Amino acid sequence: MAKDPVCGMTVDEKTAKFKSDYMGKTYYFCAASCKATFDKSPAKFAGGKSGHSGGCCCGHC
Ligand SMILES: [Zn+2]
Repeated sequence: MAKDPVCGMTVDEKTAKFKSDYMGKTYYFCAASCKATFDKSPAKFAGGKSGHSGGCCCGHC
């Protein structure tokens, strides 16, 4: 299982319809809106461990 970096949801990479490649890593998303949010500013989400732990669905907080 992979983690949606935008909202923090767990996503099964075998069935995930939405994914993006960034810096050589593949990220999976639960919805097209999460992918779109990631694609707009991937550095904000791909950074990983810094800042808050996520859990927000809008990606703006
Ligand atoms: Zn999501």
